[in-house]
Formats: sequence, C-alpha cells, structure tokens
Amino acid sequence: MLDKRKFYIDGAWVDPQDGRDLEVIDPSNEEPCAVISLGGQADTDAAVAAARRAFIPWAEAPREDRVAAVQRLYEIYKRRSDEMAEAISLEMGAPIDMSKAQQSTSGTWHIKGFLKAYENFEHERMLGDHAPNDRILMDPIGVVGMITPWNWPMNQVTLKVIPAVLVGCTCVLKPSEIAPLSSLLFAEMMDEAGFPAGVFNLVNGDGPGVGTQLSSHPDVEMISFTGSTRAGALISKAAADTFKRVSLELGGKGANLVFADADDKAVKRGVLHVMNNTGQSCNAPTRMLVERSRYDAAVEEAAATAQKVTVGSAHEEGRHMGPVVSETQFNKIQDLIQKGMDEGARLVAGGLGRPEGVNRGYFVRPTVFADVTPDMTIAREEIFGPVLSMMAFDTEDEAVAIANDTDYGLTNYVQSGDGARRNRLARRLRSGMVEMNGQSRAMGSPFGGYKASGNGREGGKWGLDEFCEVKAVSGWAAE
Ligand code: NAD
Repeated sequence: MLDKRKFYIDGAWVDPQDGRDLEVIDPSNEEPCAVISLGGQADTDAAVAAARRAFIPWAEAPREDRVAAVQRLYEIYKRRSDEMAEAISLEMGAPIDMSKAQQSTSGTWHIKGFLKAYENFEHERMLGDHAPNDRILMDPIGVVGMITPWNWPMNQVTLKVIPAVLVGCTCVLKPSEIAPLSSLLFAEMMDEAGFPAGVFNLVNGDGPGVGTQLSSHPDVEMISFTGSTRAGALISKAAADTFKRVSLELGGKGANLVFADADDKAVKRGVLHVMNNTGQSCNAPTRMLVERSRYDAAVEEAAATAQKVTVGSAHEEGRHMGPVVSETQFNKIQDLIQKGMDEGARLVAGGLGRPEGVNRGYFVRPTVFADVTPDMTIAREEIFGPVLSMMAFDTEDEAVAIANDTDYGLTNYVQSGDGARRNRLARRLRSGMVEMNGQSRAMGSPFGGYKASGNGREGGKWGLDEFCEVKAVSGWAAE
C-alpha cells in the first residue's frame, strides 16, 4: 500500500501536525491502495502562512517569471502524463485508456489554454477614450483556498491552480480525500517545476476539517470550489464572516433536446456522453428530451446503445466503462434507480445491482429510463451515475420549459438540423453552457453555471479574471 501521508507546504514535503489516517480505496476491487493523512487546523494554518509569505514576492515578480514556471510545469506534466493517468485510474476508477485520453490530458489542455489566454491578459487597462488618466488594474486577489472533487481531478485542479499562479496568486489546494493521489503527483510536478516555496501548497483533509478551516480562514482571500451543491452552500456560509470571494462550480442536470430533424447519431451520442466517466460528470446530458415523432425509435436506440456498453476494471485496457468511485456513490445510485422504478418510469436498460458476472468493485449497470416525467426524482436530482432519463415533448416551447424547470443550470444540449432553431434555443436555455450537434466548446471557452450549478466561470480569460481584484485608479500619469 502506498504511504502518501505527507503534505506539500512551503516548498517541502512535511509530516502532518494534526493528521489522522484515511485509506484510499481502489473502486475496481474495493481494496485499500494508499493511506493519506487528513490534516487539522495546525496543518491548514501552516499552509496558509506559507502562501501568505509567498504572495507579495510572487505577485510582484515579472510576469515572464510566472509564465516560465508554468511552461516548465507544462513540459513536466506532458512527460509524466501516463503516470498521472495511472494515479487517476487507481483512485477513482476511470479505465486506463480513457484516463490517458481524457482525464490526464485535460490537465495539459488547460495548462496550454491558460498560457495562451494569459498572453493577451492585461493587468493594466484603459477605462476608455473619454478618461485618459484613469486605469483599471487587475490585481491578484491574494491567497486562494482551492477545494476540488474526485470526478475529473486534474481537470479541476488545473482550472484553478494555473490561472491563479499566472496572475500572481498563491494557493492552498485541498483535493478530494477520496481521490488525492493525482493531486499529490501534481504537487511533485509543481515542485519539480521550481515554483518558489509557498506559491503552491497541498494539505489533504475532509470537508468538516481542512475544507471548513480554509473556508473560514481569516488569511485566505478567496475560495475556489468545485463539488456538490450541498458543500457549496456550506462553504459560502463558512466564508461569509471573512468576506471572501467564493467561486462555485457545482452540480448539474443537463437537458439534451433531440428534435426530429437531428442527425442520425444524435441519440447514440447522447447516451454515450452520459455513460462517459461512468456518468460522473457535472455536465452530463442526463435528461434526454425527444420530439414525439422520433421518441419511440429513440428509446429503442438508447436502450440498445446502453446494453452494448461493457464494464470492466480501470486497470484493463479498452473502451469499457469503469466502476463508480465509492460504495457511497454506488448505494446512492442504487437508491435513485429504485426510486425511478417506484415512481413509475419505464426501465428499458440496466437496473439495480451489479452487471451480470461482476461481484466485486463498485460497478453499476448502464441504465436507461423512458417515460420519465419532470416531477420524478430521477428527472430532478443529480444521480452522478450511468443513468439516463428520457421523456417526449411536442413543441419547442414545451422542450424549453422542461429543460429550464430545474434547480440547476450548467450545460444544456440541442440536436437539430435547423440552424435558426438552434440559435433560438441557445438564447432561451438558462444555463452557463449550451452545446449543439455534438460540437464541444473550444479552448478558452468559459465553464460554469447558473442557479444551483454555481457562479464561477473557469477557463480562458474569464478564468483569469476570477482570481483578480478590479482596482479603479484616477490621476494616472503618462509613462
Ligand atoms: P463534494 O462536495 O462531496 O466534495 C467536493 C470537495 O469538497 C471535496 O474536496 C470535499 O472534501 C470538500 N467538502 C465537502 N464538504 C465540505 C465542506 N462542508 N466544506 C468545505 N469543503 C467540503 O463533491 P464530490 O462528491 O467530491 O463531487 C461530486 C460533485 O461535484 C457533483 O455534485 C458534481 O456535479 C460536482 N462537480 C461540479 C463541477 C462543475 O464544474 N460544475 C465539476 C465536477 C464536479
């Protein structure tokens, strides 16, 4: 078993002061694979103090120095990308080929994207032609506490750490205690890249411990959080007394509007998107709304597609679906599948229990429900598993109403051959992102939600702005 008890604080690997052990479980076989330490107040304080000491020198360093450090990190990350993929597969169960192609490489993608976005980022800006002596200064906000989940671990860590250090912030990362191994490897990479001591720190811990300590810490200016809506609300409350900026990336319940004129692959694409990462993506299109004339065929196609999805260990090569991350998630998904059946949805693929022939590991059956109604629990709650809910609609207005009738507002999807309709829908859907006809958003596009999906925007220039204070200056002298 790997011993990963140390924290990375002030440029060194240190023993916990307040730690207690936690085993990391490999979800493919339910065996412990590593032991970490959950830190306490003294560890949090040490990391925050290191970040505080490092802040002014880092913020005032030439921007070229900060860019050069991130460029070194980029090279190191690329070289160690397969190692990263293995850590992610082990800790959260993404099959190794998928982990290499999507999970690990999301890190390189974001590092590259932010280096590009920062090329055009101005820390000093004109207010406008009417005010030649005014300037807007984009100051790094200070010490940032970063709290991340387990489902796309490097995606979320790089979306926070990279823009923060580029603009001149320093940080304390508390990764998910369920999947901490990738972040510990990331800390090794930051160390190898030669960031000055204290610019990046990592303390493992849980929500009630290090998570809450960071959220309420008087020396932390901002919390950047990705995770559940439940924890997002608790963090906001814990941060209120110290007036922190709180940036939240929370859950989702994306609608996928499939019109009769959608392309032939639209339904299959939608189902496979839900199953990707074993349904553990906040932006998964988990409600498929199909125009009535195409609905019956779509249900058949969706069921057939789900039935063809195979499951297997994260450590085996191939295009199968892995386990879900933990026993807790497994049980939560089982409960929601049961609720779907109890509330009268029609089960057309998958269902309760493990897939046939599997008796170990947190494997869930790829599941599709048809004839779901908007009031059912499986239409309203984020399941975070490979479960699709399908329903029919008659008109565009009805489709929009159902799609928007949710607490969430992260990503919605539209499948239609009619360009004017697509644009109309993109304007009417109440979500931070709308993806149409299977085209993914380009590098530099901001990721974030409306309503209970949070208030942050990560990626591109918006993702750099997030970590800045806006300072308005008058009486600026010509230079
Ligand atoms: P979670 O909220 O349980 O945990 C996320 C992180 O928050 C962990 O590091 C955890 O230790 C910490 N935490 C938990 N309670 C806390 C508290 N009270 N104070 C401070 N920190 C606390 O979520 P999870 O189960 O790890 O992740 C799944 C959730 O994340 C899903 O709801 C998913 O939709 C969401 N998510 C959102 C996005 C996005 O960008 N919108 C991306 C990925 C995942």
